[in-house]
Amino acid sequence: MQTIKNYINGELIAPIGKQYIDNYNPSNGKVYSLIPDSDERDVEIATKAALKAFTTWSITSKTERSRILMRISELISENLERLAIAESMDNGKPVALAKLVDIPRAASNFHFYATGILHYSAESHSMEDTAINYTLRSPVGVAGCISPWNLPLYLFTWKIAPALASGNCVVAKPSEITPMTAYLLSELCIEAGLPKGVLNIVHGYGHKVGAAISSHPSIPLISFTGGTKTGAEIARVAAPMFKKLSLELGGKNPNIIFADCDYEHMLKTTLNSSFSNQGQICLCGSRIFIERSMYEKFKKDFIPLVNKIKVGDPSDKDSRMGAVVSKPHMEKVLSYIELAKEEGGKVLCGGTQLKLEGELADGYYLAPTVIEELNYNCRTNQEEIFGPVVTIMPFDTEEEVLMYANSTQYGLASILWTENLTRAHRIANNLHTGIVWINCWLLRDLRTPFGGVKSSGVGREGGFEAFDFFTEPKNVCIKLK
Ligand code: NDP
Repeated sequence: MQTIKNYINGELIAPIGKQYIDNYNPSNGKVYSLIPDSDERDVEIATKAALKAFTTWSITSKTERSRILMRISELISENLERLAIAESMDNGKPVALAKLVDIPRAASNFHFYATGILHYSAESHSMEDTAINYTLRSPVGVAGCISPWNLPLYLFTWKIAPALASGNCVVAKPSEITPMTAYLLSELCIEAGLPKGVLNIVHGYGHKVGAAISSHPSIPLISFTGGTKTGAEIARVAAPMFKKLSLELGGKNPNIIFADCDYEHMLKTTLNSSFSNQGQICLCGSRIFIERSMYEKFKKDFIPLVNKIKVGDPSDKDSRMGAVVSKPHMEKVLSYIELAKEEGGKVLCGGTQLKLEGELADGYYLAPTVIEELNYNCRTNQEEIFGPVVTIMPFDTEEEVLMYANSTQYGLASILWTENLTRAHRIANNLHTGIVWINCWLLRDLRTPFGGVKSSGVGREGGFEAFDFFTEPKNVCIKLK
């Protein structure tokens, strides 16, 4: 059985306490590796290593930092197959999806920020002939990066790459539920020649390792992606220490469909935006609102397509859905389906665990589920389920659907389907979300600001916004006379 190690000060080492956590393969429910159960002592040595490395890395030229990060990007691409298999084994997602989305995006994250840093510049403000101000942007120090299990390497690298490119050193914690690709990344960083201590990866539980990172006095900046409750806890600890915080949290995204949409395109994309990655993407459209005149037709066409989705062995290239990430998560999703029924919902398809045969009999498989006849404001339609469960609901007017869409505590993303240009702009302007996709979903340009409003988070990732977060501005004012 493989034993994962921490990556501290350039070396792969065991946790100080010598304790380990079982790592389950969701496709068959079996333990297949061991994860360090690290604690604050491991975070302490990682932070010391990062602080030491910062004295050199922060003044290493941008071109040299860029060169090393480009090499990491290349190594991720060269190891596509191996990383995709590891991601699937850890998370339950189809290998094909990891090969198409997760791993290429992890390589792109490094590539994007390795090149981006070469083009990042600061402002100057002229006061005519009185003075000139210019802004210096310096790395902050040691950045704490904490990431979730749904897109493990993709989201881990989305934080680490801009932090390192802008000259910070990092103490990072992947989710203890899906640590394998972060571990493999540490091997690739060694191979790429990343100087020791620049990136440190400490594995373990959130309440131990994550909490030690967020409360560490020498870590002045925390970039976190995960649940809203955890984000609130991190903010509670970090805010009185005046740490810089970027929080990317939960979502309950509306998918608004007008009768004038490009129907076939909408139907195909809605299938993906509902069930891709077993519905475990913070950007999935879990509440589908359909204009009443088209509601019955949508239902008639959508349900058979959902029933046709092949849920199966993640390593089988024909599987469209694999297993959900863990047994507790599967049970949580099932409990929400029960809640939906109690709230008066009618399950149109799915609604149950799926038992596969043979080796996979103990895996965590769920049938893709569609529920109707629920109120917009019931718990099922207000709380994040984060699984292969969507609700459908008819609407009559724009005002009504906007009210439904904006009614939750979340405000991450929304999806809108209409061919009416004026309406599209009008609704986009009135949706309370950080991202609006019109006639598409998950189309990403890495230069754009990414993040949510309300309980979906604070701050934006992506593009130069990430460099703004990972650097501290200093204004220098020079009097001319
Ligand atoms: P969690 O909030 O449970 O965990 C996220 C990370 O935080 C994990 O590494 C976790 O460790 C760690 N953690 C837990 N407790 C603490 C603590 N007290 N202090 C510091 N760190 C801690 O989220 P999930 O992993 O369950 O991920 C799913 C959530 O992430 C969903 O709500 C989803 O919407 C959100 N998400 C948001 C995205 C966005 O961009 N807005 C993108 C993707 C997901 P451990 O694993 O040990 O618990």
